[in-house]
Amino acid sequence: MTLKKNPLHVVENEPKKPTFPAWLRRSLPKGGQLYKTGSIVKKYQINTVCEEAKCPNRFSCYAKKTATFLALGKSCTRSCAFCDIDFTKTPKALEKDEPLRIALSAKELGLKHIVITMVARDDLDDGGADQLVQIMRKVREHNPKATLEILTSDFSGNADALKTVLNEKPEIFNHNVETVERLSPKIRHKASYKRSLDLLKKASHMYKAKYIKSGLMLGLGESPEEVLKTMRDMKEVGVTVVTIGQYLQASRKKIRVKQFIPPSMFDRYEDYGKSIGLLYVYAGPFVRSSLNAKEVHALLSKKNTNFY
Ligand code: SF4
Repeated sequence: MTLKKNPLHVVENEPKKPTFPAWLRRSLPKGGQLYKTGSIVKKYQINTVCEEAKCPNRFSCYAKKTATFLALGKSCTRSCAFCDIDFTKTPKALEKDEPLRIALSAKELGLKHIVITMVARDDLDDGGADQLVQIMRKVREHNPKATLEILTSDFSGNADALKTVLNEKPEIFNHNVETVERLSPKIRHKASYKRSLDLLKKASHMYKAKYIKSGLMLGLGESPEEVLKTMRDMKEVGVTVVTIGQYLQASRKKIRVKQFIPPSMFDRYEDYGKSIGLLYVYAGPFVRSSLNAKEVHALLSKKNTNFY
């Protein structure tokens, strides 16, 4: 069977789907705040990665009045095997009022730490870097006390685009490696493991702030040794903060989960990260790069470690 959107999503001769484990079952939060966050998102017509990627934490994060903005539209020019954001070959033009709408919704949500991610815009020469800058400036103008975390694409390796974004000095720069080297061609067919590491390396050289963050999803068929090697690779290029979570299949057209990683294994990855000198590793079945981002940033600030 070949899926029209991306032939690499073909799933052949796969073993039986693993049983959904007890540790991933949880009850949904209730309460007015959940709906209030949704109504603010709606009011400003903003996109959140929480909704577009069907993040498993969206109800709990919305209930805590937290969301992660998805900038540059809601359709992506790539079609990674794991990600449920809509794919398009012909993305819409950038919206001039997007920076203001994001800034005002962040203000109304009362966010103290604002996380902004983006779809990959391979159709734009700068990959969307200039629009991201406009967003960051507008967000700061309307939320002067908030800290900023930017989670970007690889800008197709465009160092100028990266520099444009880093010149705005977000408190945290994030780019996710997503998976181990062996699985990258299958999971992120328009990106590459090496290009992501190069981008992180350039970011850590260019960037004078403390935190370069990257993340991994597990359960795609990687071995524990490959996870450890990826953590070492991240450390070597200057990553200081790593998030590790369980991949979950958001819809039928996405790649299947190969294995469910027990919580104790995530604890071991956290310990390993500390042992090799990573400043902070946040690992757990529900961890995503933006989960509890405000709390993670607060922890890092408290540690006050001069890593560089
Ligand atoms: S973990 Fe991040 S992407 Fe997921 S719902 Fe929370 S804020 Fe949104």
